[in-house]
Amino acid sequence: MSSSYDVIIIGGGHNGLVTAAYLGKAGYRTLVLERRDVLGGCSVTEQDIFPGYKISAASYVASLFHPNIIRDLDLHANGLEFLVRDPPSFTPFADGSHLFSCLELADTQKEIAKFSQRDADRYAEYEAMLTRIAEQIEPLLLMTPPDPTSLDPRNLWRLLGMGKMAKGLAGDFLPALQLASASVADFVRDWFESDAMQSTLATDGIIGAYAGVESPGTAYVLLHHVMGGITDAAGTYHRGRWAYVRGGMGGIPASIVASTQARHDPVDFIAGEPVVRILVDKGKVRGVELTNGEVIEAPTVVSAVDPRITYLGLLDEENLDAEFVEQIRNYKMKGATTKVNLVLSDLPDFTALPGVERGRQHSGTIHVCENLEYMERAWEDAKHGRWSREPILECTIPSVYDDTLVPPEHPDHHVMNIFALYGPKKLVGSTWKEEGPAFLDRIIEKLGEFAPNLPGSVVHKQILTPDDLEERYALTEGCIFHGAMGLDQLFWARPLPSIAQYRGPLDGLYMCGSGTHPGGGVTGIPGHNAAREILRDKPPRG
Ligand SMILES: Cc1cc2nc3c(=O)[nH]c(=O)nc-3n(C[C@H](O)[C@H](O)[C@H](O)COP(=O)(O)OP(=O)(O)OC[C@H]3O[C@@H](n4cnc5c(N)ncnc54)[C@H](O)[C@@H]3O)c2cc1C
Repeated sequence: MSSSYDVIIIGGGHNGLVTAAYLGKAGYRTLVLERRDVLGGCSVTEQDIFPGYKISAASYVASLFHPNIIRDLDLHANGLEFLVRDPPSFTPFADGSHLFSCLELADTQKEIAKFSQRDADRYAEYEAMLTRIAEQIEPLLLMTPPDPTSLDPRNLWRLLGMGKMAKGLAGDFLPALQLASASVADFVRDWFESDAMQSTLATDGIIGAYAGVESPGTAYVLLHHVMGGITDAAGTYHRGRWAYVRGGMGGIPASIVASTQARHDPVDFIAGEPVVRILVDKGKVRGVELTNGEVIEAPTVVSAVDPRITYLGLLDEENLDAEFVEQIRNYKMKGATTKVNLVLSDLPDFTALPGVERGRQHSGTIHVCENLEYMERAWEDAKHGRWSREPILECTIPSVYDDTLVPPEHPDHHVMNIFALYGPKKLVGSTWKEEGPAFLDRIIEKLGEFAPNLPGSVVHKQILTPDDLEERYALTEGCIFHGAMGLDQLFWARPLPSIAQYRGPLDGLYMCGSGTHPGGGVTGIPGHNAAREILRDKPPRG
């Protein structure tokens, strides 16, 4: 560790690492301090959960990570490898039918036609509409949100950019408005009639949300999840695809660190070192304090942790305006997500498509989401402080593509990740310590209804309840996005209108985590945009 730094970044999640990499590339002496022993935050490969197995214990699939970052930091040359799933998804239903989505449109339409010819015909138009809207909105992701109340020329320029975007939406203005504000159930019902299509598509609207499919605002979460794609090693971008990362999601942070080191940029990464306080002197930050009382000074401090931890946990209240503190207290971040990680001795033998040999049904995301009513009932439980008796499950088996995830002595074993909804952070009349094992058993039992061999194939199992997500990954209230992704907390209001341009309310303080625009997911974009703003403010190096 050097004795002086230009910038200290608190938190070594992927966004903190992206900011560090850009600042290091620009020549700034940068220090990243991560409280856990491993870098990556929620984009991590854990090796201590089931020794010998590599587990993407939090996030598990990639698509949103921005191609510009991959290019700028040369991440493919530094070990990043995406494994595209083909087919991308499989939804088995209780009556024994199943729906695949496929890489080719015509193949997906054939699948949909098993349920509704009308839906199959409409699907091409739906995909084209989503693509057009995503293409118009995507430039906003890389933009620093304007302050609509300011007449500063840079702000006016950004507002003009938004005007151009609105013009570009032209014929898609109505679906774009619906995507911004409607419930995902209403949105998919407008397009499709079959339960199979409605429920499979609606899952994207509730991933990570504290909301049900009928809750207004969930259609935006669907849009957020389709604004991505995968850049292959040859540099070709494939819109809308999701992929596993070879070696687990920790492959993303590992490649960022490797790229920084390959360029010999002046960045130090220190894991296992929590910051306890951001130090302030006369309204200006001057460094951070560690658990042992050690002080590290720097004129610029960047917080990659969530807004509540940043302002209520790391800063003394006396340094902040009382109204600002109140607004941060009211910042919405409720979690209802649980994550289950399993090691299986055999692949699931689905009643809807039997077979324990590696098949198309094991390749992509396996959805358990019978219909919209089933999904809303799952939310009803959560709303009343209970885990869902009939949970919504999104399962992946990345070891089907990546044999580095299992130990050589168990080449036939598989790793399964399950994103399970809902497990509300606050349970009524009980605690997660008591309820976690019961919910885990129910999830395994539920999967057994579709793949009867699964419960008997479980070799290792783990549930990460919202309490565990808060404790292990420092996700306040178990909120996986560092704040709800509703219109009132997006773009020029993320995390608050007064600090939506990556600058905090104190001189020298910045934010670069998912609590800033454009929000959660393994996108790297908050980190990228924050670095750009910091470099705008700092004098050129050297
Ligand atoms: C269960 C789960 C599943 C998900 N699935 C997906 C998915 O499949 N695909 C996807 O794109 N997104 C997914 N997400 C969302 C995505 O992972 C997150 O939104 C994103 O990774 C957050 O990145 P970040 O860098 O902003 O913050 P984080 O990853 O939260 O990083 C913040 C870091 O700060 C550290 N920290 C906190 N306090 C301190 C302190 N005082 N001192 C030092 N360090 C500190 C934390 O330990 C952490 O490492 C998932 C999230 C979860 C939890």
